[in-house]
Amino acid sequence: TGTVTEIYDFLRLLFARAGEAYSYNTGKKMVRYSEEEMVEHILGHFKNKRIVLLAPIVKGRKGHHRELFEQFRKQGYLRVRVDGELMELKEKMQVDRYKIHDIEIVIDRLTAEAASKLRIIESLQIALKLGKDQVLVVNHDKPDQFQLLSKQLMCSDTGISYDEPSPNAFSFNSPYGACPHCKGLGTVFQIDLDAVVPDKTLSIADGGIAPLGLARDTHTFSQVKALASKYKFDIHTPIQQIPARAMNMLLYGSETERLELDVEFEEGTQVYQSQFEGIVNMVIRWFHDTGSDYVKQWAEKFMIIRDCPVCDGSRLRKESLWFKIDQKNISELNRFNLNELQQWFKGIEKRLNKKQQMIAGEIVKEINERIDFLLQVGLDYLTLNRSSRSLSGGESQRIRLATQIGSKLKGITYILDEPSIGLHQRDNEKLIRALQELRDVGNTVIVVEHDKDIMLQADHLIDIGPGAGRHGGHIVSEGNPKKFIKQKTPTAGYLSGRLRIELPEKRRSGNGQALMLKGASGNNLKIVDVAFPLGILIGVTGVSGSGKSTLITETFYPILAYHVYHSKSQALPYKSIKGLEHIDKVIEIDQSPIGRTPRSNPATYCGFFNDVRQLFAIIPEAKIRGYKPGRFSFNVKGGRCETCEGAGVKTIEMNFLPDVHVHCERCNGKRFNRETLEIKYRGKSISDVLEMTVSEASEFF
Ligand SMILES: [Zn+2]
Ligand SMILES: [Zn+2]
Ligand SMILES: [Zn+2]
Repeated sequence: TGTVTEIYDFLRLLFARAGEAYSYNTGKKMVRYSEEEMVEHILGHFKNKRIVLLAPIVKGRKGHHRELFEQFRKQGYLRVRVDGELMELKEKMQVDRYKIHDIEIVIDRLTAEAASKLRIIESLQIALKLGKDQVLVVNHDKPDQFQLLSKQLMCSDTGISYDEPSPNAFSFNSPYGACPHCKGLGTVFQIDLDAVVPDKTLSIADGGIAPLGLARDTHTFSQVKALASKYKFDIHTPIQQIPARAMNMLLYGSETERLELDVEFEEGTQVYQSQFEGIVNMVIRWFHDTGSDYVKQWAEKFMIIRDCPVCDGSRLRKESLWFKIDQKNISELNRFNLNELQQWFKGIEKRLNKKQQMIAGEIVKEINERIDFLLQVGLDYLTLNRSSRSLSGGESQRIRLATQIGSKLKGITYILDEPSIGLHQRDNEKLIRALQELRDVGNTVIVVEHDKDIMLQADHLIDIGPGAGRHGGHIVSEGNPKKFIKQKTPTAGYLSGRLRIELPEKRRSGNGQALMLKGASGNNLKIVDVAFPLGILIGVTGVSGSGKSTLITETFYPILAYHVYHSKSQALPYKSIKGLEHIDKVIEIDQSPIGRTPRSNPATYCGFFNDVRQLFAIIPEAKIRGYKPGRFSFNVKGGRCETCEGAGVKTIEMNFLPDVHVHCERCNGKRFNRETLEIKYRGKSISDVLEMTVSEASEFF
C-alpha cells in the first residue's frame, strides 16, 4: 500500500546497487574484480613471479571428461590443471569417471611484470571468456599459491559466486528473491506430532496414531501389524509401551532397511520384502501431492504452521540475505519499525564507503522523505514487513494519507472515512496535524469521524441524524465548532461536556479463577507475566505499537485456540500458561469479513434468515402454491433467479485485476424469480426483506 511499498521498493534498489555481498559459507566479504583490477592485482600480488593463467572449465563435477580434454587439445591448448595438479594435455586423456573433479585449462605462462602488461591483458581476456568470467592465477614455482579471480561476486575461499543482484532479488514475490523452500511465504506446514499421537495411553488399534484411525482391514494396517510382530509388540499395546525404535519406524518409515513382512491376505499369509513409508511421511506426501480438497483438509489436521526453517521467516533466498549495508540485511531493516528505521538511516552516509555514498545518496533521500510522511500520520510503530492484509482500515487510510502529503498536490478534495480508527489518543494529534497540513497547502479535506478531538479541530462541522436509519437523514446542525457546541443537539451536548457517559459505580470482581500467562516475549514484549481474571470484562490498552496485539491476538489467543481446538496458528514465544482447565471455549471476534462472496450477508451469517424463510413459507399464498422454506433461499434451485444463481450480481473475472460484480439483468439484483417475489409478507417480498437495514427489520418484524 502506497508509501510503505515505495519505501521497500527503494530499499530493494538500495541493496541491489549498494549492498555488499558476504559469503554464506564463510561470512567473509565477497569480492569481484573488473579486468583492470585483475591486471593490477596480478601485477601487485604476484610481482615479478612466474605465473600461470588458467580458465576454470569444470568445477566439482563427476565424469571422465574425455570429450572435454579432446576438444581443448584440438583447439591447440597444451597444458591443463586437474584437481590442483598441472600437467600436459595428452591425447585420449581422461580421469576417474566416478570421482569429482576440478579442471582448468592453461592459457598462458609468463612473468608478472609491468613490461608484460599487454600480454597479461590479452591472455586474461581469453581466460575470462573460456572460464565464464573467472580466471585462476597460479604461482608457477609454488603451485600451492593460487588465486581465483572473478568478475562476479565470489567467495575467494570457497569459490561460490552470486549473481549480480537486481532489485527483484530482494522481493519475495519474485522467483529471483523468494526462498525456494517456502516459495516466499515465510511459513511452512510441518507435521504436528501432538496431533499425530494425541494420547500415548491409547493403543494403535484404538486410534492412538490418529491418521490411521481405528483398526480395520487396510493395507497400511497389515503393514503396521507386520511391523508390530517383528518388533514384538501388538496393536493393542498402549503407545507409551511400544519400543522407541519401533515407534520411530512406524512414524518415519524403515528408510533403507527393508522389512520382511508377513502380510495376511484372505487366501493366506504371504511373505514379502517391503519398505514402510512411515505414517508421518505418508501424511506429508498426501498433504503435498493430493488433488483432492478433502484429503488435503484431512492431512492438514496433522500439520502445524511454522516459520520456514530455511529463511527463518524472512521469505527471501539465502543469497539475498547475505547482501548487507552497514552490517544489516534487508530483512533486518524490514523488521524495524519506522522510528528505528529513521534512526538507522540517520547519518548513514558516514557509515558507507565512497562508492556506496554515490549510489545511495538519492535513494536514501527518497526513503527518508517517505518515512517522514508516515511518521507524520502516527505510524511510527509500523514495520515494513507488516502484511497489508493485517492493516486496520484506519491504518491503510493513514498510509494513503501519508502518500498524499508526499505528493504536495493542491486544489484537491480529499474524503476520509474515520481515519482515526485504531489510532491511540496520543497519536491523534499527529493525524490532525497531517490533515491540517493537507488543507494548508490548498486542499479541501472532508472527514467522516466520531472522534471528539478531530471534530473540534474542524473548521466546519456537519451533524447528520438525529438517529440512525429511518430516524436519521436530517442535517441536524452545522457551523464552526464554537457555535456548533452551543446548539441543543445531542452531538453538541457530548462535545461540550454537558452530556456524558457515566462510569459504572460497581465493578465485578470475577469468579476467582484466572489465566496466568508467563514470560511472553513476542515482538517487543519484555518477557511479561500477566494475569487474566475470569468472569469479568477486561480492557487492554496502550499506545499504538505498544504490544497489545502481540500479547492478545498473537500470543494469548493462539494459546487458547490451540488448547481448545488444536488450531494451527502459532503463538509467539512465552514460557508458561496456567489455568487453561477453566476454559472450554474461546471465540475470536475480529474484523475479518463474514464472507467474501455476494452470497454471505449478516442475515445468513447470524442465522436470522432461516426464520424469515420459515415465515414466508407459511404465508397462505405460499401454502397454496406449495412453496417450502427452500423456495426462499438464494442458495438452492427453486425460487432463486437462475441467471445469476441467486447472487443478484454476476461476477466478471478480470484476470489479474480484482473481480467486478455487476447487477443481474434478469432479476435486477433481486436474486429471486418473479413467482417467488410475488409472495409478500405485509407488503414486502423476500428480496425487500434482504434490503432492509437491521433497525428497519427489527421494527418491521
Ligand atoms: Zn523460507
Ligand atoms: Zn463509524
Ligand atoms: Zn438474477
